[in-house]
Amino acid sequence: MDATPLPTPHTPPAPAAEQVSGHGTGPLTVDVVVIGAGPAGLSAALNLVRAKRTVLLVDANRPRNAATLRSHGFLTRDGISPLELRKLGRDEVEGYDEATVVQAVVDRVAPDGDRWSVHAAWRGTEVEASARAVVVATGLREEFPALPMLRAFYGTSVHSCVECDAYDKAGEPLAFICETDDVVDRALLIASWTDDLVVYTNDSGVLDDAGRARLASAGVRVDERAVADLEGDRSGMTGVRLADGHVEPRTGGFVRPRWHADLDWLHVEPARDAEGLVEVDRCGRTSVPGVYAVGDVTPPGPEQLIVAAGHGAVTAAAVHRDLVGGLTDLRDAVQ
Ligand SMILES: Cc1cc2nc3c(=O)[nH]c(=O)nc-3n(C[C@H](O)[C@H](O)[C@H](O)COP(=O)(O)OP(=O)(O)OC[C@H]3O[C@@H](n4cnc5c(N)ncnc54)[C@H](O)[C@@H]3O)c2cc1C
Repeated sequence: MDATPLPTPHTPPAPAAEQVSGHGTGPLTVDVVVIGAGPAGLSAALNLVRAKRTVLLVDANRPRNAATLRSHGFLTRDGISPLELRKLGRDEVEGYDEATVVQAVVDRVAPDGDRWSVHAAWRGTEVEASARAVVVATGLREEFPALPMLRAFYGTSVHSCVECDAYDKAGEPLAFICETDDVVDRALLIASWTDDLVVYTNDSGVLDDAGRARLASAGVRVDERAVADLEGDRSGMTGVRLADGHVEPRTGGFVRPRWHADLDWLHVEPARDAEGLVEVDRCGRTSVPGVYAVGDVTPPGPEQLIVAAGHGAVTAAAVHRDLVGGLTDLRDAVQ
């Protein structure tokens, strides 16, 4: 793919925006700290610097989708490597004078008067910053069923995002490994791409009779026995091995991870939903004024790159309007 030309760096920011300062003598002083440089954080940062906001973008550079070689469904970038997509986005943000981008792990965000104190560190380098607003774009951590070979096939033969990857598995003999009570809905969704699906609940007891009946009427097979592991070789997955030794040939499939939003470093407590995701209004505002959240760390998905990027753009507009102050709420302005 052709490289996307970098934007021309902007002239110095307008007086409303604060200059990045610090340079080893004190905290960097910025309008906004964006934490996480996946599509959500990158898009938020890009739109904020274009609003003449000074932005510190801090990223640990551990993207969840690094397990896969190709990303799908991002308009104009269908099939792109996820790392290339991040690099293109990061290059665009770094092209602006208002942006400071650092690789580090944020380990503390705490209120400091009417501002936010942010601390990050990485391999001996420390970053201290003071900001008027914080955008949390840190994505999710995945916890998988305890199958030793699952990680080896994840992102190539086995996927979690049906919308992203089912197209390329259409018509194949697939497995769906799921230990959560959304198993029926997810299985029926996957079954819209293949007539040969086996659902494995791995002895978790998540299915009831009504669920079994719905799956049976859709032609979806169910195996509720304990799963020992996935089988396969360097060319990919070949089957599912049960604890009793039975091996069912399968060329790939889907797994339902449990998702966790790890926010121990955030020294305030925005409201979370039952899954632990950060509740936001449609403009990314959390229940804590000045703290916003975007992308996968918020409900309800779908967990897709373009959705996260769009969420970042909406939230950037809200952050900017809130910092200007006294404007019609974005929710009212866009309805
Ligand atoms: C294997 C896999 C394949 C996928 N394939 C597709 C696909 O084909 N198409 C598609 O549309 N979607 C796909 N997705 C989903 C997509 O990757 C996510 O929906 C999207 O990346 C979410 O963006 P995000 O910005 O919210 O979070 P992420 O992209 O996860 O980015 C979060 C960033 O925050 C950083 N971070 C976390 N904690 C901290 C901290 N304390 N300090 C600093 N930085 C931190 C992380 O290192 C990471 O870089 C896939 C997901 C997976 C797991």
